[in-house]
Amino acid sequence: MSNNDLLKQRIKKLNTKAANGACVLYVMSRDQRVQDNHALLAAQKHALAKKLPLAVVFCLLPKTGNRAREHYEFMLTGLQEVEHSLQKLSIPLMLLIGEPKQNLQAVLHHTNPDAIYFDFNPLRGPQKLQNSIANAAECAVYVVDTHNVVPVWVTSPKKEVGAYTLRPKIHKLLGTYLVDIEPAVKHPHKWPGHVEPIKTLLPHIHKLTNAIASNGTTLVFKSGESHAHTLLEHFIATKLQTYAVDRNDPSKGSQSDLSPYLHFGQISSLRVALRLRQVALQNGSDLHFLSSPKMPKPEDAKNTLQHGIDSLIEEMIVRKELADNYCYYEPNYDNILAAPNWAKTSLDAHKQDPREFLYTYSQLQSANTHDPAWNAAQRQLTTSGKMHGYMRMYWAKKVLEWTDSPEQAIEFLIKLNDFYSIDGGDPNGYAGILWSVAGVHDRPWFDRPVFGVIRYMNYEGLKRKFDIDPYVNS
Ligand SMILES: Cc1cc2nc3c(=O)[nH]c(=O)nc-3n(C[C@H](O)[C@H](O)[C@H](O)COP(=O)(O)OP(=O)(O)OC[C@H]3O[C@@H](n4cnc5c(N)ncnc54)[C@H](O)[C@@H]3O)c2cc1C
Repeated sequence: MSNNDLLKQRIKKLNTKAANGACVLYVMSRDQRVQDNHALLAAQKHALAKKLPLAVVFCLLPKTGNRAREHYEFMLTGLQEVEHSLQKLSIPLMLLIGEPKQNLQAVLHHTNPDAIYFDFNPLRGPQKLQNSIANAAECAVYVVDTHNVVPVWVTSPKKEVGAYTLRPKIHKLLGTYLVDIEPAVKHPHKWPGHVEPIKTLLPHIHKLTNAIASNGTTLVFKSGESHAHTLLEHFIATKLQTYAVDRNDPSKGSQSDLSPYLHFGQISSLRVALRLRQVALQNGSDLHFLSSPKMPKPEDAKNTLQHGIDSLIEEMIVRKELADNYCYYEPNYDNILAAPNWAKTSLDAHKQDPREFLYTYSQLQSANTHDPAWNAAQRQLTTSGKMHGYMRMYWAKKVLEWTDSPEQAIEFLIKLNDFYSIDGGDPNGYAGILWSVAGVHDRPWFDRPVFGVIRYMNYEGLKRKFDIDPYVNS
């Protein structure tokens, strides 16, 4: 397939309108970067074909679910880099502060666009906004999936049962979609009006962010597209070799730490995968799944570059794209109704089981439980803004064990995760929580109190898997 045909596969038209407008708009939201951005590229191609000016619009919402002030600040720092990079391409960034629907409609009224491009997000808030703009606008409205390596609607037309059903579909398509993307170019058609730069809007921005609750975390991550690329190189140089085995040990710090950047779209998973392929080729091999669709079993993973690359591809493409598939096709992605029938039946049967420990939201929030490993994980979350990946599973499963009902566990977990975690408010979080509590993407295990047949984890298991003491005492 040609690059243009591949780009077309990433684009979905949300209405049937056409216009003879005066400009093209890209409403950036989930993919906050200039490099490797298919939505920007598609919007620019449209503008170039019609000889029209192009602007990027970003809506700064007064509230985004349970997100905290620190998340807004991280995002705004990244957006200033986006603005600077766009400036070099003669494309203005319009920051709209406040209610997105009204703000966007006002911009459409004043700019009379020929077309509007959104980037893809499977969550209900962005989907609702995009559909309402598609209904109200007088021009064509498109959505472009530049968050997934394989566009979510190309991978599968339905909600997948689990990684084992999605993996072969993705592996089959990866060879086709794992191709470099053309860069956006300097735009030749000048934007006709004045666009307020972010720095002059700072008083309004601060007014908005000051009204958002702070979570008190101190992030070690530096925001922005360039930092994302620096971190990727650092990871490749220092941790990739041991990632396959060591990433599961919470005291080793061997994960990539890419999730803040992937979540805010400051780096694309396509770029990470292309870079990993380069490393593999330099190492005399290639991405394993391109020749053999079978992944090595986790117990066979070794500390080698090849295993590191394969494992990261598995997490960052198969697992991450499974989460997008889940949220796109499952309207109840953040509540118990998303649970498979076997899990619902079993959790219902155990609803009245006595709980040995019951904690309130505030006890959990302040890491005030009897379990030192759980408290360490919660403290890591509330101080650094990112919990280790392996501990996230344990952390969520214990909340199922220590609350009145799975419904309450899901509610508490989503609130904690989205408020404290820099990568929260993400399909990965909803899929991870529903996997832990309600069997999504999993299978039935042995029946036991409270959990029913939901997969169980305990402190003894953590101790068997690695030396948990350094993590608990950190
Ligand atoms: C209860 C629970 C809550 C979670 N909440 C979030 C969340 O809010 N945001 C988030 O991005 N991830 C979440 N995850 C998934 C995973 O734990 C994190 O993506 C990972 O720990 C992020 O750190 P990293 O980038 O250093 O990971 P790495 O191990 O270096 O992985 C690289 C990338 O692969 C993807 N990835 C890794 N593990 C998973 C997974 N299990 N599912 C989907 N994608 C994965 C992520 O994009 C990640 O950035 C959650 C998992 C669970 C069990």
